[in-house]
Parts: sequence; C-alpha cells; structure tokens
Amino acid sequence: MTDAAQFHMFIDGQVTLAAETREVRDPASGDVIGLAPVGTRADLDRAVAAAKRAQTAWGKQPDDVRAQACRKLAEVIGENSAELAELLTREQGKPLKGLGSEFELGGCVAWMNATAELPLPVEVIQDDDAARVEKHYVPVGVIGSITPWNWPLLIAIWHIAPSIRAGNAVVIKPSPYTTLSTLRMVELLARALPAGLLNVVADGEGVGEALTTHPDVDKIIFTGSTETGKKIMAAAAPTLKRLTLEMGGNDAGIVLPDVDAKAVAEGIFWGAFINNGQTCAALKRLYVHDKVYDEVCAALTEVAAGVPMGNGLDEGNLLGPIQNQMQFDKVTRLASSAPGEGGRVIVGGSPQEGSGYFFPITLVADAKEGMACVDEEQFGPLLPIIRYTDVAEAIRQANSLDVDLAASVWSKDTDRAQEIAEQLVAGTVYINKHGEVAPHIPFGGARYSSMGVEFGIDGLKSCANIKIYNIAK
Ligand code: NAD
Repeated sequence: MTDAAQFHMFIDGQVTLAAETREVRDPASGDVIGLAPVGTRADLDRAVAAAKRAQTAWGKQPDDVRAQACRKLAEVIGENSAELAELLTREQGKPLKGLGSEFELGGCVAWMNATAELPLPVEVIQDDDAARVEKHYVPVGVIGSITPWNWPLLIAIWHIAPSIRAGNAVVIKPSPYTTLSTLRMVELLARALPAGLLNVVADGEGVGEALTTHPDVDKIIFTGSTETGKKIMAAAAPTLKRLTLEMGGNDAGIVLPDVDAKAVAEGIFWGAFINNGQTCAALKRLYVHDKVYDEVCAALTEVAAGVPMGNGLDEGNLLGPIQNQMQFDKVTRLASSAPGEGGRVIVGGSPQEGSGYFFPITLVADAKEGMACVDEEQFGPLLPIIRYTDVAEAIRQANSLDVDLAASVWSKDTDRAQEIAEQLVAGTVYINKHGEVAPHIPFGGARYSSMGVEFGIDGLKSCANIKIYNIAK
C-alpha cells in the first residue's frame, strides 16, 4: 500500500476513476510521486463518444467564440503554472528553471494565445458572371492526440490548441512515462470547455492502438518515434484517418572554418543539450571543419563544465536526469560502444553513481559515420563530433540518413551558410542557432521525420477540412 496521490482521467466533463493503478517514480530519485490510472478500451470508447457529441455543437460555434476559448485556456494554464511546473519536474525530470518546466509552461501559454489569434477566414476563389466560389475551413471532427514524454505538456498543447480552435473535439492519450502531468493539465483545461470537448484517457493495454483504429476518430495527431508513426499510419489506413505525424530526427550541424569557437559554443551546446538532448529538433551530429575542430571541442568542453546537473527541483540545476530507464540504457549503450568504434570520449562517457537516471554530458570526438552514436538518434546527453575537411563531404554525410527534421550551419558568412543550407535536406535549416520553434513558424520535417506540419496558419489548416461552396449565378 502507498499513500501517494492518485491521479485520474477526465472524460465527458467528469473525473473518471480507473479500476487499476500503477506507481509513477521521480527519475531523479526513484521515489514514488503518484499513482497513474491504467486506461482501458472501454474508457477510450466513452471518451470518443463524448467527443463526438460535444463536437457537433462546438463545430457550429462562431470563430470568435472558439478564439475566446483558446484565450481562456491560456489563462487557465497561466494560473496553474506553478503547480504544473513542479509536477512536470518531478515526473519528467527536467529542471524547474532554465530551459526546463517553467519555460515549457510559458510555451504552453504562448502557443495557446498565438493560436487564438490565427485567422481561418472564408476565401473567395472566384466571383464573376458565371459563379461565386468560396473556400471554407470546416472542422475535421474528433481528433485523437498521442504524445511523447520529452516535452509532454507543450506537445499536448501543440495538438489541442489548433484542434479546438478549428472546431474539433479531442481525445488525448499521453505517454505512459508522463501521464500525471498531462492528466492534471488536461483536466484543468477540459473544465473550462463544454463537457466532452476535451478528454484524456491514460495509457493502458491497447489504448493507443484503439485510438488509431476507432471508426469515430477522424484524425490522429501524433508526436513520437518514426517506428511508432509507421505503425499508426498502417493502423489508421482502414478508416482513412487524416494524419499529422511528427517523428524522430538526427539533426546535423555543420560548423564552417571561419567561426569563432568560443562565440558559437554556447549556442551549439544548448542546441544539442536542451532538455538533456531529449528534444526532437536537437542537434545530434556535429560536423566541424578540421581548421577549428580542436578549438570547438575545447570550447564545448568548457561550456559543459559550467552547467550544473542534478535534481530539477534544486533551482541551481540547469539539467536533470534522463527521463526513463529505456532511454538511460540507450545512451549508456551508445556511449560505451563509442571508444571501440574509434570515438574519443572527451567529456562524460559513463553513468553517474547514485540514485536516479543521471548521465553526464558526453562529447565523443573523432566520431565517424557508421558509429552507432552517429547513425542512431541518441535522444540524450551525448553529442558525436565529426571532423571534416571538404564541406561537400560533410553535406553528403548530413543528408545520408532518412530522418530530416532540422539542420544548422554555423559561420560568420551568412551568405555562404545559406548556400550550404540550400543543399541540406531538412524541414528547417537554422543559421547560427539550432532548435528554435515558435507558434507562428510552420514546423515539420522531410522524409521519415514528418507527415504534415504544425504551427502557424499551415498547422491550423491541417486541423480543418476544406469545403467548397460553388454557386451558379
Ligand atoms: P514513442 O513513439 O515510443 O511513443 C510516443 C507515443 O506513442 C506514446 O504516447 C506511446 O504510448 C504511443 N504509442 C506507442 N505505440 C503505439 C501504437 N502502436 N499505437 C498508438 N500509439 C502508440 O516515442 P517517445 O519515446 O515517447 O518519444 C521519443 C521520440 O519522439 C523521438 O524519436 C523524438 O525524436 C520524437 N519526437 C518528435 C517530435 C517532433 O515534433 N517531430 C517531438 C518530440 C519527440
């Protein structure tokens, strides 16, 4: 028996108890922080039925009512930020301060507010003697949202905000690793909306699969790994669901020989290690010209030495533990195999002693293509640094994998950097920065990283269907 706080699902405007619960532990200490409900297919069916009912009325609401609802949701998050940030740190591990939980909650408010202001006006595409033709954006219906554990609240908002704004209802299924914070935030949001419009069903045997096959779910918005994305696409095919899939990356950064190593080190460091590297569009392979290679390695080593890692609730820490055992084991494997494959570990390299999934910042110099830590998305505090002399070869290697979320070029000469950017396959190419996302800038990857885009007007339109009115004159 444990007296840990019990968290609940929220379906059809009501707290919904589960027959079964499981313990959730703090990745920094291993302590139990709460009990998560285990969702079932029956819970999911009730949530989808409630969403379908609620959407019928919501889809008829005028645009300004939906925009106002988003503004209200932003307020709700803002009012509850302190509670949610602390819970997020305890469950996810990221620090409260720096680019951690408070930053993530700030992003939730910003995205909700920005989405409220996005317009979806009627477009007149013909108006002459023959006809008037109008293009309207109408709701898709019920949207199923499936989220990962790295930025669990922000990504939930990336799914929920455009869905609600465009007149849809939502059933969200959070990652089993970050259930508690998502349950709490979604309950607060759902209470501010008509009953059934927003529902959260906890992970449980077959719940995710049931969402992707349910005949009354019209679209899936998924953020997670490419392998899961492929399964979802296959599962959604028989019911021809609309899909937005945001998946894995292995972002390359190319550092040109003209950089000032000390000046770019901080930007490269946080581009790679934001959220301990557990970020889809983090820099995951760094290609550095031979002329500045040693200087860049030294400058990154110096930045790493000044970044405190520890329990995220301690406000001095800027990095926390890895979120879960699976990811900790993966980073451990990639770091330990690097020396045998020819890599030279210049910082970190093995797990920290003591409790929690702490793994130090790890820099692997002399890394090469073909090494596991270069070819696989490490999604953790490890960065391989690859030496090059011919930039065409660096570009070839950067483009050689099938995942292309983002890439970056670092140089004093932004025209030259832009020429290289044009040759990189990626959804976003940054110059002299890496990983920034914003609510007004469309975001999505090339090839196996994405299907569709999120954010901005393009992201909002992907939560709507086009309906044409073609009126004879
Ligand atoms: P994951 O694919 O293991 O899980 C993501 C979600 O999918 C979880 O909620 C999980 O329970 C659910 N899921 C798993 N199998 C399913 C199935 N068969 N049907 C339905 N749902 C299923 O990913 P993760 O480990 O949580 O996240 C890490 C990955 O996510 C990394 O590859 C990262 O690059 C990627 N990611 C991408 C973006 C982006 O915007 N492109 C953002 C964040 C993370």
